[in-house]
Amino acid sequence: MAGFQGKSILVLGGSRGIGAAIVRRFAAEGAVVTFTYAGSHEAAEQLARDTGSTAAVTDSADRDAVIARVRESGPLDVLVVNAGVGAFGDPLEQDPDAVDRLIRINVNAPYHAAVEAARQMPEGGRIIVIGSVNGDRIPFPGLSAYAMSKSALQGMARGLARDFGPRGITVNVVQPGPIDTDMNPADGPMKDIQHAVMAIRRHGRPEDVAGMVAWLAGPEAGFVTGAMHTIDGGFGA
Ligand code: NDP
Repeated sequence: MAGFQGKSILVLGGSRGIGAAIVRRFAAEGAVVTFTYAGSHEAAEQLARDTGSTAAVTDSADRDAVIARVRESGPLDVLVVNAGVGAFGDPLEQDPDAVDRLIRINVNAPYHAAVEAARQMPEGGRIIVIGSVNGDRIPFPGLSAYAMSKSALQGMARGLARDFGPRGITVNVVQPGPIDTDMNPADGPMKDIQHAVMAIRRHGRPEDVAGMVAWLAGPEAGFVTGAMHTIDGGFGA
């Protein structure tokens, strides 16, 4: 496979889980991939060695660092914003600083990264943000801050699709349901409650999400923009 041969791709949050699968997919298809991470140094270095990609420390909670990283990347064919965190629990008990940090990583960083990428992005560029089916549906308590952040991405993508559409740049959100990662392990404590509301009662794989991202980044998806693409085993059905 060489569908992205020589394409310049930046993945924000690529050291583990869904982001790592996206890095592997694009690297396997010939892209020149850089990915960021914050804490998982060993995993990032291993992934970079395995795939020939470049790992770079950039904390998505730091707006100016994110903007600088995107700017220094030069003209990107594809930007993927995957980095995201959860802050789950009773909103009456939650640390407000944790909620604000979540908003910086899950909302502010995608917005500023997308805008900065668009400054240099060529015609036909792709901006893809990893949201969540929780942007559409919240069947359990304790998800308010996280769901709020993922719903915000929907408005962002619709708006930026209008702003950048005249230049042939598409902006889309991929909305996974339960995917087997460190954030949401397939054998974790939430598995039964999640599977109970799904049509396909199991976790998905990071590679499933990477496949959807690759399609959106590819030539067949040039007419797809301002849209949410849910991959959730029927969690939201
Ligand atoms: P993981 O926690 O397994 O991995 C998160 C990745 O994001 C890691 O590479 C991590 O890097 C990076 N990251 C986290 N915080 C920061 C930060 N402050 N700065 C830079 N990088 C950061 O999560 P998943 O792979 O499960 O999730 C990826 C995305 O998919 C998230 O946006 C999440 O909300 C979304 N999602 C996940 C679902 C699931 O069930 N797994 C379901 C729906 C949506 P490092 O460890 O190096 O800091």
